[in-house]
Amino acid sequence: MKIEERPLREYLYKRPQIENNGCNYCKSNNIFNGRCEDCLKKNVTLYYSLRNIEIKNHIMKTEFNLSLKQKKASKFFLEHYINKKNAYLNAVCGSGKTEIMYEVILYALNKGDKVLIAIPRKEIVFELYKRLKSVFINTTIKYIDGKNHDDNGELLVSTINQLIHYENEFDLIILDEVDAYPYQENEYLERLVKKSLKTDGVIFKMSATEKEKIDSDKYIINRRYHNYDLEYPIFIKDNSKKIDENEKLKEILLNNNRKIIIYTYSIRKSQEIADYFGCEYVNSKNKRSKEIISSFKNNRSNILVSTTILERGITIPNLDVVILDAENRVFSYQTIIQICGRVGRSSTDRMGRIYIFYKYYSLKFLKVKRYIKQMNYEMQDL
Ligand SMILES: [Zn+2]
Repeated sequence: MKIEERPLREYLYKRPQIENNGCNYCKSNNIFNGRCEDCLKKNVTLYYSLRNIEIKNHIMKTEFNLSLKQKKASKFFLEHYINKKNAYLNAVCGSGKTEIMYEVILYALNKGDKVLIAIPRKEIVFELYKRLKSVFINTTIKYIDGKNHDDNGELLVSTINQLIHYENEFDLIILDEVDAYPYQENEYLERLVKKSLKTDGVIFKMSATEKEKIDSDKYIINRRYHNYDLEYPIFIKDNSKKIDENEKLKEILLNNNRKIIIYTYSIRKSQEIADYFGCEYVNSKNKRSKEIISSFKNNRSNILVSTTILERGITIPNLDVVILDAENRVFSYQTIIQICGRVGRSSTDRMGRIYIFYKYYSLKFLKVKRYIKQMNYEMQDL
């Protein structure tokens, strides 16, 4: 659906995309022959509108209590929002970053403010949408991805790319996983975020790994919410050329009564391994990914093969993870940490296992070990 056809909005004005040698759509000045080289669009008519938000009483239903540390963080972000100040949450995987934002989201919604949660990966949008729906039970929540543009709700979940459709729209944007590809150091996406935020709007950024330069107030949490340590990975050297030669992996799968995600570095590999073990796979090309993830979560299968698309944002109880060919550059230090963070996330299951298979030892493994050690060592300040 093109932007012109979007329903349920009152259009305020329209204007051309290219004006004064700049692009109104993505705010780029990179114009060549009347076409914007950044968003690759030419002669689009842009319609700007305000979404009419229904003012109502929003409520929050949660089945957990925030830890003291989470409560402090929650208050920190609420105060920053009230004072219209941007802030940054740096929190270790599994510390409940999204939950920390619930209070400020509720506050903003009840004021009639427009709130959006943006994440880099489209595979996670729907998962997060479902999770929010179970918490904000009285709120109309909509998710926007490449196919679904219905944004007639008070709370939106989307990828960062979808922000191209908005200008001066949101009072609060919560950007999750800002350390992830493709957001990291991407000026184009930065511009989209800035453009879609109201001039007095507030941005909260969240990440698990620390960014070096942060230009706003920062809150750090280095314990998981159930206050147990991050799991240490088990490193396994394996020289097998084909999956059917990997005896250690077969043994792990055979003796396993938990859920396992096997991470591989390429789409081709994910299909190959899934074929061999007779299980499902998800990758950016598999159109059934969404369906497969829910069926995996709902206990209909125990093994899932994935590329790095599931490195973050997914919470599954009783989960172990396997990384194959971890020396491959697809598995960056950050990615490995994110994958480790999938394990032991729930208070009823803290003891998942992480198996990292490698053919060549890499320095990044040492960094991963050091990171986990550091995070587990730091004084718990509860
Ligand atoms: Zn553009």
